[in-house]
Amino acid sequence: MSDRRATLEALRKTLQARLRAYRGHKTRSLDKDAEEQSLEVENDEVVDRLDEEAFAELGQVDRALERIADGEGEICEDCGEPIDARRLEALPMTTLCIDCAERHR
Ligand SMILES: [Zn+2]
Repeated sequence: MSDRRATLEALRKTLQARLRAYRGHKTRSLDKDAEEQSLEVENDEVVDRLDEEAFAELGQVDRALERIADGEGEICEDCGEPIDARRLEALPMTTLCIDCAERHR
């Protein structure tokens, strides 16, 4: 399962780069004039949402990496049953089996 770990680490870098870009976007918008600023505010709301999503996803990736490091990367953190390999391939950051994921929805 070291492939999954590599996938997660690559994903982690991508998400961190995205978060840096979102935060850079917000810093830049402070220099604009009033009209541009009002456009930027709407834009910023979209960026905020993307930022939150990326941040949540990054947390999930970190969690999955921690569980892999503990030798529990393929075990559902809720019920303790093995997570289906196809599920791990499709959703490498998951820490729940399909049944528990459905229940938590
Ligand atoms: Zn489970």
